[in-house]
Amino acid sequence: MLDLRRQYVGLREEILAAIARVCDSQTFILGPEVEALERDIAAFTGSAHAVGCSSGTEALWLALMSTGAGVGSSVITTPFSFLASASSIARTGARPVFADIHPGTLNLDPAKVAEVLTVNSAHDACAILPVHLYGQCANMDEFLRIGKEHSLPVIEDAAQAIGAAWSGRPAGSMGAAAAFSFYPTKNLSAYGDAGMVTTNSPERAEHMGRLRNHGSPRRYYHDELGWNGRLDAIQAAVLRVKLPHVQEWNEARRRHAGCYDRLLAAAGLTGGKAAPLRILERAPQATHIFHQYVVCARDRDALRQHLTDRKIGSEVYYPVPLHLQACFAYLGHREGDFPEAERAAKEVLALPMFPELRDEEIARVVAAIGDFYS
Ligand SMILES: *Cc1c(COP(=O)(O)O)cnc(C)c1O
Repeated sequence: MLDLRRQYVGLREEILAAIARVCDSQTFILGPEVEALERDIAAFTGSAHAVGCSSGTEALWLALMSTGAGVGSSVITTPFSFLASASSIARTGARPVFADIHPGTLNLDPAKVAEVLTVNSAHDACAILPVHLYGQCANMDEFLRIGKEHSLPVIEDAAQAIGAAWSGRPAGSMGAAAAFSFYPTKNLSAYGDAGMVTTNSPERAEHMGRLRNHGSPRRYYHDELGWNGRLDAIQAAVLRVKLPHVQEWNEARRRHAGCYDRLLAAAGLTGGKAAPLRILERAPQATHIFHQYVVCARDRDALRQHLTDRKIGSEVYYPVPLHLQACFAYLGHREGDFPEAERAAKEVLALPMFPELRDEEIARVVAAIGDFYS
């Protein structure tokens, strides 16, 4: 599914030297390495500011806090994402309000968000939080338009989307703020937990910078309750070695996706109404970075078992939509509330995808899938 070792062998010397540099400096939390990474990520994402923090989850929380999310407000998001997209909302004290996904891209559907905003359940909305799922940006033109119409900031969950773009605008530069994750499986990955929040607003950046450090504008003075959400220097140093490669790695992922597309179609596995697999829709405005290559599959669970038996990795992102998670039972949702998200949860399967994947490995995956359906 993902072999991180192949990336490591090529960068080993540089990464060990970067870690040694931090050890020699004996500066471990925030400091010059983190500041340098913040500048690099701001430049890479075309944002004015970047604030390093301890994870993508923390980045979402910081971005939401900067919009004033809290008890008595709500934030609209997708029910089909990793838990943190919604748990970060709940952790501010705000209520997650879900809107269904687009059946083609599986991203939050702007039309459904507009619908939610017209009903009473979202009269207290303070932000819209689309997720750039699997590395393809959500429809940001529409979300920004709806946000403007209702005076709501748009927060991008860009955890899966570093290097992605929408109409040529980089993920992380379009919303009021955006959250990135550098969890080891992400397209740009640290050697532990790490995250970053980007914004074009200097006030927001300053606020988030305080919140990640106990709400402290200067040592031992705390104007506002924050938390320890700091980024450490070793992670920043590792990320600085890797960042210059992200573009080429994303291109390799796109090539692999093209290879899957061609081989699956040639095998008759995709393309017709009767075909057992359906590839996700790609918006013409989107520069997709294929954090995951996902198909909707007939007999998904049996196919996955067939692949596992042949020692081929695959994953289900995500088997339970957020509105049906036990931790959100208090929101009072039932099966049937978001049919597209529920259907996606039953059908999606992510196939092996990482930059160092080999063409013959992709061919082997496709052959095994063909074997299952024949
Ligand atoms: C990974 C991920 C997060 C959380 O990032 P962490 O660094 O694991 O906290 C949030 N949202 C999405 C969509 C993710 O994929």
